[in-house]
Amino acid sequence: MKKEILLKYNEITDFNNLSDLEKKLIKKAVESSKSAYAPYSKFNVGAALVLGNNQIIIGNNQENASFPAGICAERVALFSSNTNYPNEIIRQIAITATSKKFEISEPVGPCGICRQVLLEYEEKQGSDIKILLFDTKKIIKLAKAKDLLPFYFKEDRLKKL
Ligand SMILES: [Zn+2]
Repeated sequence: MKKEILLKYNEITDFNNLSDLEKKLIKKAVESSKSAYAPYSKFNVGAALVLGNNQIIIGNNQENASFPAGICAERVALFSSNTNYPNEIIRQIAITATSKKFEISEPVGPCGICRQVLLEYEEKQGSDIKILLFDTKKIIKLAKAKDLLPFYFKEDRLKKL
């Protein structure tokens, strides 16, 4: 039986259609990307998330000559927020990328590992994490992390071993 998964999202080309909070998150994510440590890829990623207490936490990618030692911007922000504010929910996260080497012409989505991490925090807190992916021309708005990762791995699978 053939089945399909429908992905609903909003595509916005006018930044004025964003809320003040969304504009702020975007500004913070862009600022954060500029201080990423990305000497190898020259692909600077910035993330900014807002918590239930309105605190904004930023993250950017951190690379290393030993490549697997690096970490993505999204996880820097997510782990930092859960370290410093373990009881606060994550309401929304904005993610972007900038590069001095080449133009990034489309919004950049989180990698598979970051999607899994986002989703686990969404499950843990019991409420959706809204997502904003954007570049200078376009914004993609998703209602929840779950939309980014169909057939995701859940911790309840571990209990059945
Ligand atoms: Zn990632």
